[in-house]
Amino acid sequence: MAPRVVVAGSANMDLVGVAPRLPLPGETVLGDDFMMAAGGKGANQAIAAARAGGHAVFLGAIGSDSFGVTLNARIKAAGVDTAHLRTSYGVSGVAVIMVDRGGENSILVAPGANASFTDLTASEERVIGDGDVLLCQQEIPVGTVVAAARAARAGGTRMILNAAPARELPAELLENVDLLVVNEVEAQAVTGRSAPDTAALLELVPRVVLTLGAGGSRYAERDGRDEHVPAFPIQAADTTAAGDAFTGALAVAWGEGRDLVEAVRWANAAGAACARKMGASNALPTRAEIDEIYRS
Ligand code: ADP
Repeated sequence: MAPRVVVAGSANMDLVGVAPRLPLPGETVLGDDFMMAAGGKGANQAIAAARAGGHAVFLGAIGSDSFGVTLNARIKAAGVDTAHLRTSYGVSGVAVIMVDRGGENSILVAPGANASFTDLTASEERVIGDGDVLLCQQEIPVGTVVAAARAARAGGTRMILNAAPARELPAELLENVDLLVVNEVEAQAVTGRSAPDTAALLELVPRVVLTLGAGGSRYAERDGRDEHVPAFPIQAADTTAAGDAFTGALAVAWGEGRDLVEAVRWANAAGAACARKMGASNALPTRAEIDEIYRS
């Protein structure tokens, strides 16, 4: 049976414009191309978990605008259970992304409905308690993440926090986190140290995964295991969403009951599979693509 991975997080419509160069303040530049895609770390990681073979359930809020309709349809089409997704009156979360031909970008995120995802309902808490793994990020109000983590602990569901984007973590959240996933920048922000330090992270939570981009990742736990797990060598095309592919796959593998070092190795394969392709949510790999790299 596929593990139930409940993702409580953000959903944004990514509006991506490509131009020869980024406009300066006050300037208009004629663009080359435009595309829309489902985005936001919550939606991305739910899609990543579904493609990796999990039964992914997404909790979050979309707006009552046309973007909300499109977002719901796209997230659902990617294999995610959106039955519990809220629709809030108003605009959906939107990321306005400008990219130049060299790949440099400027991004404006307007949270929209994501900011209204507060006060978990009894039914949302039940969905979390029925999950094998709860996965949260930090693009929704912190009180919601705290409440979701508490519901997970009460229901015996393992809780993974991907502390992205970096912000200070309240003690009432940390006490219910089973596994923290951070990249080097986030590790420094969480611990207040000038270098990523797994020992400092383990003072906060019992298990930690530190992602290191092309350097792979590191798994550490309080009982003493601290292992570097090497990356899979690939030709990277675009590392956007590699962290989301990694985290979604990790949640599935842990939900399947795999040993965490093995789960991290498989998640490394998911990150590598994503980095091989151009794009964000459209580059999130299937289970077959992950296994192909994992066995290579
Ligand atoms: P984030 O995007 O959150 O900063 P990382 O860049 O650390 O996350 O990437 C997440 C994971 O994806 C890494 O731990 C690694 O396993 C994989 N990955 C990312 N970039 C590459 C790369 N260039 N080659 C191989 N694997 C990669």
